[in-house]
Amino acid sequence: MGGILTAPAQGGFHCIFLFQATTIAGQFVKSFYCTQQKMTLFLNQRRKEVELMGTFTLHKHDATNSKVGGGNTTLGRREFLQAGAAGATFGLAAFLAAKRGAASSAGSRTAIGESDGFPNKITDACRPFDQKYTIFARGLWDPEVQSKWVKFATAPTSKESGRTQLDKALYNAGWAVEYRFAEWSMNGQPDTDAYQWNTWTNPRKWEFENVQDASNKVKKAAKFLGACLVGIARYDPLWTYSSLLKIVKFQESQPEHWLRPPAGIEHIPTRLPFEPKSVVVMAVEMDYGAIACSPTHIAGAGTGLGYSRMAELGWSVRRFLSELGYRSFACGNDTALSIPYAVAAGLGEIGRQGCLITREFGPRVRLVKVFTELELKPDTPQTFGVAAFCKKCKRCAESCPAKAIPFGDPTLEGPTISNNPGVEKWYLNPEKCFDFWVENGVDCANCITSCPYNKTEMWNHRLISRLTALPGDQLHYLMARMDKIFGYGNTFDKRANAEWWKEE
Ligand code: SF4
Ligand code: SF4
Repeated sequence: MGGILTAPAQGGFHCIFLFQATTIAGQFVKSFYCTQQKMTLFLNQRRKEVELMGTFTLHKHDATNSKVGGGNTTLGRREFLQAGAAGATFGLAAFLAAKRGAASSAGSRTAIGESDGFPNKITDACRPFDQKYTIFARGLWDPEVQSKWVKFATAPTSKESGRTQLDKALYNAGWAVEYRFAEWSMNGQPDTDAYQWNTWTNPRKWEFENVQDASNKVKKAAKFLGACLVGIARYDPLWTYSSLLKIVKFQESQPEHWLRPPAGIEHIPTRLPFEPKSVVVMAVEMDYGAIACSPTHIAGAGTGLGYSRMAELGWSVRRFLSELGYRSFACGNDTALSIPYAVAAGLGEIGRQGCLITREFGPRVRLVKVFTELELKPDTPQTFGVAAFCKKCKRCAESCPAKAIPFGDPTLEGPTISNNPGVEKWYLNPEKCFDFWVENGVDCANCITSCPYNKTEMWNHRLISRLTALPGDQLHYLMARMDKIFGYGNTFDKRANAEWWKEE
């Protein structure tokens, strides 16, 4: 009997790795010749696993999915053969990765590849970015973007799955804490609410034993207060906005700021309240099942809850440091860029879709940072094969309804004034992206949902993440195809919406 059919009951995708990683080369060859019937059984096992996980079910491309073209699951003869070939290849790769992992890793986030510097090439063209050019800040002064904001914010609900009054209620509930305690940070406003700069600082300083002790204690507190990942970066003025667009006067009788431009805004050079020494960079996880419903209000609720948790976490960690006598302030989307700090702090790499890709949750995280005058031990940027994998994968670009994500190689500049040039990476088009949000009536997370790194924290998925660190274009191509064939990362998925509302 072939290796796949003798796999234990947890599910086929688990087993193809575990079983094949621990068997001899002859069994890999058998995988090439497994029959369609066996594959069907294998897929049934996989279906059971997914149902048990309570996320979404494996299914074939349906009429809704075909709307977006190319992002979703199909299983034809060609893919079936690819799956068999990939299974054998992955088995060998899993074996190699397991050996390599055992030799190189003692902990869950120990680097496979570790880099002393920033992993992306940075040229002189990279300068502190002016916050007024971010797409959200442009909603305050750019008439074209402002009118789109109004349309976006006033989009009605409908009877369509994921867009009903029920779904919109969940959406607003997810965002509720952010709306109440950090509303202005969303569009880049600094020094407001939970992200205010000047707060009470204890005049009595706590003396740590040394920087390592300080870092350990801060990380422990951050995890306790809600961070799923935490790292430390040196403060770097390159990533702080050069100038800020501050609202100085609001429209009267206007509770929702995006519906009308403010009466007065000032464009001022950034002057932080103190010179920070360290930046504590934290990630909060977004709900897997909710993000699987992109691009609907359910997915938007997952995003909103991420923002709400960012505000709570940033405010709490800031308070911890202030209580210890060190001036500190938190920021969300405001004041400084988050992704470069997260890369510098060793939380992950930049993916094709422009998000931070973490090893643990892929791009399914939101980022909040706390600037502090406390000296902490900086972490080291880590690479685990994302850049090489993205070159072959392109799943996010295929799944983007706005065609805002490039299919080509990384570049040193982007297509709009909302792109900051000088870092070698993939630049998405924020204008096209936002246009789709407006058309869609709610924000989109397709490029997070569809990413093969977006998985739950299960051992088999972590093993797969390890495999991406292995070199080889063909292996990466097959891995990306396998992810799609086995039903991961579908978008516009009405079944995911229905699954989400099912009782536990
Ligand atoms: S969020 Fe924007 S870039 Fe990402 S898939 Fe949606 S439209 Fe495309
Ligand atoms: S979907 Fe693929 S190409 Fe896009 S960021 Fe994720 S791994 Fe990279």
